[in-house]
Amino acid sequence: MFTLKIGIFGGTFNPPHLGHLAAARTAVDALGLDKLLIIPAAIPPHKELPEGTPAPEHRLAMAEKTADALLLPEVVEVSSIELDRAGKSYTSDTLARLKEEYPGAELWLLMGTDMFLTLHLWHEPERILELAGICAFGRTEQDGEEVFAPQREHLQRTFPGAKITTITLPGLVDVSSTQLRELLAKGEGGEYLHPAVYGYILMNGLYGTRADLKHLDIPELRACSSSMVMQKRVRHIRGTEEEAVRLARRWGADENYARRAGILHDCTKYLTGPEHIAICERYGVPLDDLERTAPKLLHSKTGACMARHIFGEPDEVFNAIFWHTTAKADMTTLEKILYVADYMEPNRDFDGVERLRELAYRDLDAALLLGVETTIQEMRDRQLPVHTNTLQAQAWLRDHGVTTEG
Ligand code: ATP
Repeated sequence: MFTLKIGIFGGTFNPPHLGHLAAARTAVDALGLDKLLIIPAAIPPHKELPEGTPAPEHRLAMAEKTADALLLPEVVEVSSIELDRAGKSYTSDTLARLKEEYPGAELWLLMGTDMFLTLHLWHEPERILELAGICAFGRTEQDGEEVFAPQREHLQRTFPGAKITTITLPGLVDVSSTQLRELLAKGEGGEYLHPAVYGYILMNGLYGTRADLKHLDIPELRACSSSMVMQKRVRHIRGTEEEAVRLARRWGADENYARRAGILHDCTKYLTGPEHIAICERYGVPLDDLERTAPKLLHSKTGACMARHIFGEPDEVFNAIFWHTTAKADMTTLEKILYVADYMEPNRDFDGVERLRELAYRDLDAALLLGVETTIQEMRDRQLPVHTNTLQAQAWLRDHGVTTEG
């Protein structure tokens, strides 16, 4: 009979860091989990939430970014079960609730050394050990069998039948959220965080970070972009960034602008239609009827708005992002570069992409026209309307003697 195996990873996640990520990733494989629930605690029983702790919504959002970073959407979920419950977040209550929700499932409670060594002092440890197996892992190089074994034996003696397993994290990340909060307040610590979490912290000014979003260095700008999208899109964004830089070098455009435009070009990709429209209204971007109903067309406009108004990018970057989906007549070199880079960056794989790649470095206008005509054909095949700016781009290039042969 199939038994659902569920891992439960609780913590304050204040903020979640690479140590948490390594533990979650390893536990999924080591235990063969069907589901992993990441559960931020509302009021942890064993420690006070320090002053300056972000609002629960922020901790939940950072946990969501951590879950998404595992790239296992079928397996990993964030649960707000403890944040939604009044009072202290006792693990025994959480496990009892989960047992009701998933009758017959095998529950595994994940915890690092510090938690494991104090487990017998938690609220209702016998209930915890009855409801779930314990999966403990070391946090530092020192946390070996000699640390785990006495506690495992003690727990098994005190709570007969307790199921306890220890796993080793291949990539130990010796850091705590406490250390990170201190580092972040000094403008350091980004290397211990997943970029999506780091970007979220910077964009929301959490933990005393006072990043000037209008003058971010490249790693910070990448982190902010990463925090705004689903992680499965990040490879494409990085590919576009690198391709845009190579094309800028080839065609004599500004490499820094090409890079920044690549990093930000899809940053609003996951907004909803009403969110796109609200941004366009706020920043005075006029929309035609087709754009109002097609979020794919809107994300280039709202991405450009974010680039300009949140990240302080200049007009060149704004315009490259603004036109990267529809293209238009008479484009600048940087606009052409972003359009073409987005189309043929190394992760793209469609019939004809090799020809586009070859053309992009031989004749940029020909590559642009090929991209534009491929889009027009695709829209017609799918019986979808083609935006007038795209048709105007095609006409302009043809009028200027450009062909797709180069
Ligand atoms: P704080 O410093 O605020 O006490 P923390 O870094 O210990 O935070 P928690 O949110 O309390 O993080 O931890 C949640 C769970 O993750 C605990 O079981 C903890 O042992 C484990 N954990 C924390 N840091 C690491 C790490 N670097 N490597 C592996 N596991 C970790």
